[in-house]
Amino acid sequence: LTKPLSLSPQTFATGTLQQDDLLFRMPVTQDPEPKKYLQYRQPGWGKIHAGIDLATNDRLVFATAPGRVVLVQPLCNKKHTHGPGQGCLDHGMGNTVIIEHELEGGGKVYSLYAHLETIDPAIKGGAIVKANQVIGRMGASGYGETDYWLRRKGQPIHLHFEIKDKPVLSDPKTGQHYGYVPANSNPDDYGYHNPYDFFGKKRVKKATETVTSKAAQPDIRQAIEYIKRGLYDQAISELSLAIKMNPNFQEAYRLRGWAYYQKGKQKVENMSRVEMQDWLLEENELDKAIADFTKAIKLNPKDAVAYCGRGWTYLERANSAAVALRDIPISEFLDYDRAISDFTKAIQINPKFAEAYYGRAQAYYFGEKGDKKAWEDVQRAKKLGYPIDIDPWFLRGLKESLKGEK
Ligand SMILES: [Zn+2]
Ligand SMILES: [Zn+2]
Repeated sequence: LTKPLSLSPQTFATGTLQQDDLLFRMPVTQDPEPKKYLQYRQPGWGKIHAGIDLATNDRLVFATAPGRVVLVQPLCNKKHTHGPGQGCLDHGMGNTVIIEHELEGGGKVYSLYAHLETIDPAIKGGAIVKANQVIGRMGASGYGETDYWLRRKGQPIHLHFEIKDKPVLSDPKTGQHYGYVPANSNPDDYGYHNPYDFFGKKRVKKATETVTSKAAQPDIRQAIEYIKRGLYDQAISELSLAIKMNPNFQEAYRLRGWAYYQKGKQKVENMSRVEMQDWLLEENELDKAIADFTKAIKLNPKDAVAYCGRGWTYLERANSAAVALRDIPISEFLDYDRAISDFTKAIQINPKFAEAYYGRAQAYYFGEKGDKKAWEDVQRAKKLGYPIDIDPWFLRGLKESLKGEK
């Protein structure tokens, strides 16, 4: 990935490159004719191919038209198990680039280049791509392996190329499928387009307009839907892509923090005490949530919701530690003070933030920082319309504790 690509002058001398810079072109050298493997809508592996597979001897991969880089997905190098169905973050695509194109007649499409061996160092998020620019070298990367497609499937080195409606690795419609759509379905219905309807036929807007257009703002509505439905892994993966496209996307950090928090909470509820110990001592979902909320706060110090989210996360971590780590020194896990400080900050920013009062009440109570203060916060939350009986166990405990104090 670090070695720059050198483009041989012969490539440009073949005379087969697009004369009209604004016209879409085949993303590989066209002389001699590239080998065509799986085509658009062709059945393969029990599914329907949503792109086209092309191979050439020089292995150069060109931008299909001028545009802007919106995603660079490197080959996954995470420790989790790779391969289909194993949660691999590159979803089998390997080193992948997505470029945004503004069409001459209005609207946008995105071209995707997968399984690359290398990506040219000039191809970074937000970079302008000129006509006929080489973006990388054809390869067989996927599922965290540099030669997955070559070794596992006995398939030659090739470019998997797509044209689609959204800058995502998955299908634009459901976010469930990668490179293929289910058997007997049409990729058009999933937000893909036949690339051959573009090559030599459709044009992008004038280059100057491409250059001056604003950076793409990733679409996070899908991620919000996932969170609402409790599909936290999908939400996290969608939001991670959005963050990759725009590393300062404040809302995406806050939402991903929330998804990690919910996922962590869900996990804790199904763990034994011993499992919880190990989980707490490793980097876990709550730690990731705290990191994301912290980043969101850094990008917008007035984000009361992010403070509140981090407060809940500290509280959850503190409560889990109080249960699970009773045999080991736990001072570093006693996050109650941090939770109280975050809820207080949220209240300072927005004095009518009912949930922050309720959260602080729980932090006061569970952290044994004062039941009276907890009760006052419960009353404030109630006054502001918060459904305080949402957690009857907490309310009952607090009332009993207050009685005992008298
Ligand atoms: Zn992976
Ligand atoms: Zn393919």
